[in-house]
Amino acid sequence: MSVVRVTGARVSEERVSSATVDRLEIARAAYRDVPLYDPKRAPIEIDLTDNTNLWGIPPTAERVLRESVSSVITRYPSLYAGDLKSALAEYAGVSPEMVVTGCGSDDVLDSAMRAFANPGERVVSSLPSFAMVPIFARMNDLEWTGVTERADHSLDVEQLLAEPSKVLYVCTPNNPTGCVTPLSVLRTLAERCTGVLVIDEAYIEFGGESAVSLLHEFPHVLVVRTLSKAFGLAGLRVGYAIGQPSLVLEVEKSRGPYKVNALAEHMSVAALHNDMDWVREHVALAITLREQLASELRTRGYSPLPSGGNFVCAAVPECVAVGQAMRARGVAVRPFPGLPHIGDALRFSVGPWPLLERCLSAFDAARAEVGAT
Ligand code: PMP
Repeated sequence: MSVVRVTGARVSEERVSSATVDRLEIARAAYRDVPLYDPKRAPIEIDLTDNTNLWGIPPTAERVLRESVSSVITRYPSLYAGDLKSALAEYAGVSPEMVVTGCGSDDVLDSAMRAFANPGERVVSSLPSFAMVPIFARMNDLEWTGVTERADHSLDVEQLLAEPSKVLYVCTPNNPTGCVTPLSVLRTLAERCTGVLVIDEAYIEFGGESAVSLLHEFPHVLVVRTLSKAFGLAGLRVGYAIGQPSLVLEVEKSRGPYKVNALAEHMSVAALHNDMDWVREHVALAITLREQLASELRTRGYSPLPSGGNFVCAAVPECVAVGQAMRARGVAVRPFPGLPHIGDALRFSVGPWPLLERCLSAFDAARAEVGAT
C-alpha cells in the first residue's frame, strides 16, 4: 500500500506493508485474519474443479453477446435487474416480488447474512458444505458454527437447531458430497428454526426436490440459486434468491443497486426465455454422464456418494497427492482432504464424455504414481 504523508512542509511517500497495516489497526478487527479466498485454480487444459457447465454458452445468450449494442457497456445497468427478476420468477413459478438477484449467488448469500444478522450473531451450517459460508460469516463479523453431518450424510437436524442462529444454511444437493436432503427434513428445519433458513439450491436442476413449494407457508425461508451451473453462465455472475416479498426486500437493500451488469442481465433473460430446451438437454446429459462416471469409479473399487449434482464425490486416499499427479497430466479435480465420515476425497465435475475419459486415464496414472488405492 502506498501512502502520502504530509509532515510540515515535507511530503514523503513510503511503502506500508500489510504487517504495518495490522499494527496501525487500519483493518477492521474481524478482517485481520480473513484470508483471501483462493481455491488454487491455476489454468489447466481440462478443469473439472468448479461444477460449471462444460458444454458452452446457451445459443440465444451467445447471440445476444455478439449483437449487443454499445449502451450495454457505456450506460449503467438497471438498478435491481427488473427484467431478469421477471424472467427468473417465471422460471421458478413465483411472482417477481419474490425474487432478488445478485452478482452470483455468492453475492446473494453474503447480502442475506448482512441483512439478517447483526455483527456477533451466529450462522450455523452443516459440515461438509459450501466452503464460502464460514468465509462470508467472518466477512460480516458473524460467529459461525459447523455441525458435522451424520455418518449416512443426512443432516444432524437436532444439532443444527440446538444452537440459536440468525441464519441457518443448508445446501441441497450438497456441495461437495452431492447428497440430497428430502423436502420433509427441510420442512422440519423451517418449522423449528429461530432465524432465517437459507436453502442453497445451486445444483437443484440436477437433482433433489426444490424447497420453493415451502415458501408460501414460511416467511423466513430463502431459497438461493444460480445461473452458474445448469445454465452455463458462470462468467456472467448471476445468482438469485426466492422468498416472500418482505424477506427478499431486506436482501435487496443489503445487496444494493447495479449488482448485475447489463450484458449479464440481457444474456440471462435471453437464456431463460429461449434456451430452456438447451439447458434441459444438457442437464439430462450431465445426469447420465454423472452415473456413468460413478460406475467407472465403482469398477475401480471406489464408492462414490450418490449425487444429485453435476459432480461426483468419492473417498480417495491421499487425495491431494493424487490431485497433483492428475494436474501434472493436464486434468484438475478438486481434492477435499479429511472430510468428516469420508476422509480424503476427490470431487469430479461432470462434462462431455471425452473429458471424463481423459480424467479417468489421468486418475488411473496418478493413483499408480502415488501408490494410492
Ligand atoms: N452455492 C454453492 C453450493 C456453490 O457450489 C456455488 C459455486 N461453487 C455457489 C453457491 C456460488 O455460485 P455463484 O456465485 O457462481 O452463483
